[in-house]
Amino acid sequence: VLDAAWAVKWLNLCAEAMAEHRVELIELDRAIGDSDHGENMDRGFQAVVAKLGEGTPETPGAAMKLTAMTLMSKVGGAAGPLYGTAFLRAATSLGDSAEVDPGAWAEALAAARDGIVARGKAEPGDKTMVDAWTPAVEAARAAADGGGADLMAVLVAAAEAAEAGAVATDPLVARKGRASYLGERSAGHRDPGAVSSALILRAAVGAAA
Ligand code: ADP
Ligand code: MG
Ligand code: MG
Repeated sequence: VLDAAWAVKWLNLCAEAMAEHRVELIELDRAIGDSDHGENMDRGFQAVVAKLGEGTPETPGAAMKLTAMTLMSKVGGAAGPLYGTAFLRAATSLGDSAEVDPGAWAEALAAARDGIVARGKAEPGDKTMVDAWTPAVEAARAAADGGGADLMAVLVAAAEAAEAGAVATDPLVARKGRASYLGERSAGHRDPGAVSSALILRAAVGAAA
């Protein structure tokens, strides 16, 4: 089940993934941005781990709210407020449930995606993290449909769709964020925020394994 222990494990795995992929995210952001995405995400999730060490949250929603607040204050740039909003909206969607079922998880992902869109105004195809989140939400909802789905199937569907979505940003021309300053020259590079989003959703699978 997705409970508070799962959420804490997930966030710790997010921190591990950001540390492990720090250089890759920096290189992706070097090509079409300002080279700081790996550093921003690594610093942000290290701060989340430090916060989690101060006291164990009682629900997945509480863990995600703490993450939102920490990312907003520590990450900066475009990604800090976007991920902060995503985690906050997901936390609100989950409320104070102690255990999250597949359908509720799919809806929390949808709330996160809607928060990113509300804040950043990007549409699918604009070469942003929205291009990872949107297919992830669709895949999670499809996998959770009917209510009887197994949780692992929903988590895996979301992660795989986000990974494919990140790869699919390669040929796109950026229309939002710093990469949009490059215009056509942004094509041929993968969006760093779409890659970090896929890492976050992949870590959710690891936490349930
Ligand atoms: P900055 O561009 O301020 O240096 P980061 O490098 O940390 O911030 O994050 C860049 C990522 O943020 C991009 O790869 C993209 O995925 C995402 N991003 C930027 N602007 C937007 C937006 N308006 N909507 C959604 N995502 C965005
Ligand atoms: Mg950057
Ligand atoms: Mg920056």
